[in-house]
Amino acid sequence: MTQQEYNGIMVIAEQKDGKVHPVAFELLGKARKLVEKKPQGVMGLVLGPETLDAKNLIEGGADRVFHVTSEIFNLPDELIYKENILPIIREIKPAIVLIGATTFGRSLAPRIAAALDTGLTADCTDLQIDDDGKLVQIRPAFTENILAHIKTKTYPQMATIRYREFSRPDLDPERKGEIILREPSVTSQNRVEILEEVTRQKTNIAEAEIVVAGGRGLKNAPDFITLQELADLLGGTVGATRDVVDAGFISKAHQVGYSGHRVKPLLYIACGISGAPQHKAGMKESETIIAINTDPSAPIFSIADIGIVGDWAEVIPRLLEKLKQ
Ligand SMILES: Cc1cc2nc3c(=O)[nH]c(=O)nc-3n(C[C@H](O)[C@H](O)[C@H](O)COP(=O)(O)OP(=O)(O)OC[C@H]3O[C@@H](n4cnc5c(N)ncnc54)[C@H](O)[C@@H]3O)c2cc1C
Repeated sequence: MTQQEYNGIMVIAEQKDGKVHPVAFELLGKARKLVEKKPQGVMGLVLGPETLDAKNLIEGGADRVFHVTSEIFNLPDELIYKENILPIIREIKPAIVLIGATTFGRSLAPRIAAALDTGLTADCTDLQIDDDGKLVQIRPAFTENILAHIKTKTYPQMATIRYREFSRPDLDPERKGEIILREPSVTSQNRVEILEEVTRQKTNIAEAEIVVAGGRGLKNAPDFITLQELADLLGGTVGATRDVVDAGFISKAHQVGYSGHRVKPLLYIACGISGAPQHKAGMKESETIIAINTDPSAPIFSIADIGIVGDWAEVIPRLLEKLKQ
């Protein structure tokens, strides 16, 4: 396939309970900037129930939206999604396919890329178009020491982009576009069977405005209860380094950093965290950083707005006491 046969940018929008994930709007906003005013340049593709408001994607920047309507997409089954996305990509031939690097997106994108026998760049932090019209996929490499600029020889050029890398455009209710409804091509598979639905406590750390995070300076899982108490009092969420997640003190949903979540809260309180580059990669954009560490030479202090040299187990209870007063 030659480059000329492929046109436009397709954003695959993830949805849950009929609500589109915000990363899809960020990608539509970026796609609009990439295509500038080229007609029919930006497409949305969403798989979800009929009740889902696909017009939102037009308002967010898409010229055409393909909406594959079925209740079956309420179940986040990558295999069913993949089987229904492939025929549309093969028919429409977008030059670029963008997917949010959410947990689901990270699982879906490589399946689609492999089936299309094309390349995929994961976790991009920026995208550009070069003079030949090719997509330049930019992402940190070698633990964020360099920014790699990657071009894909095959088509479509596929990339996943982390949530909150690009700003979310304002929805424009006046924007016009076309919604193309499609029936699902594959509706059943017998590879996944739901035996029991388990509800777990939802941690949406990426959206949190206040994060109280703990690292190896905490000695065990119960130590996190103190951080949780402070987070609850401030209306925030608990974060963690990879080392304490690996130690089993807290679940992976709380991990901040290069291989965890990227956060941009108004306030990040780092307790017993050394400030390794892989951790800083996920939180250095926080508006205000308070670091509590017993070691005055800990690297976390180099990015902290307020540094407290001390034992978190003394500082946090005192802070709690003051706040409760
Ligand atoms: C490919 C790759 C990906 C990675 N991804 C991530 C990631 O996403 N997120 C992440 O966090 N890490 C990640 N890491 C791991 C990272 O390199 C560090 O190992 C990790 O961040 C260190 O965690 P820490 O700060 O809890 O522990 P340490 O580095 O051991 O630091 C503990 C700190 O606590 C201080 N301390 C000790 N006792 C107290 C006390 N009582 N009060 C106050 N301070 C105290 C110490 O002075 C020290 O500075 C990754 C590594 C690799 C190679």
